[in-house]
Amino acid sequence: MHACCAPCSSYVLEYLSRYFDITLFFYNPNMDSREEYDKRRAELERLVASMGLDIKVLAPDYDPKEFYETVRGHEKDPERGERCGLCFGLRLRRTAELAREARDRGEPYDYICTTLSISPLKDAALLNLIGQEEASRLGEHFLSSDFKKREGYKRSIELSEKYGLYRQDYCGCVFSKVDRGA
Ligand code: SF4
Repeated sequence: MHACCAPCSSYVLEYLSRYFDITLFFYNPNMDSREEYDKRRAELERLVASMGLDIKVLAPDYDPKEFYETVRGHEKDPERGERCGLCFGLRLRRTAELAREARDRGEPYDYICTTLSISPLKDAALLNLIGQEEASRLGEHFLSSDFKKREGYKRSIELSEKYGLYRQDYCGCVFSKVDRGA
């Protein structure tokens, strides 16, 4: 499961860990700085430990180059615009690739998924469409979701408070940070 941050992962982990053995993939080259990247990754690892879950967190080193190349020409798009679709595509493509690599090693995952649909600012239909495309291209299966529904977002706020999680006030990229500041 692609994980964007600890608050978004909280409810999704609580819910899905009843049904699945999960591996988390913290792949977010869209972060505006290494400091923010490290902070969100550390919070995710702390959350998993605090919830007592036996879940591996895979986290590549921070490398924003791919993100800036992917969204070139869309720097001024508003949040929820085309830039976000490209950003989702990058993160879900890499998640599908990771699953494919595991399948080729003989350790397949049943599904790939993302925590991103829990955010009220994220278009779940678009995320699901992109996820399905990226997964099926590599022979993987995408678990469609809209985790914000059925009080999922509300529960993520409760869990964030319970575990004292860092809740950032911008999506992650430098463009969203500037917008939030404005
Ligand atoms: S606003 Fe969020 S989803 Fe959109 S490009 Fe920036 S980091 Fe990605």
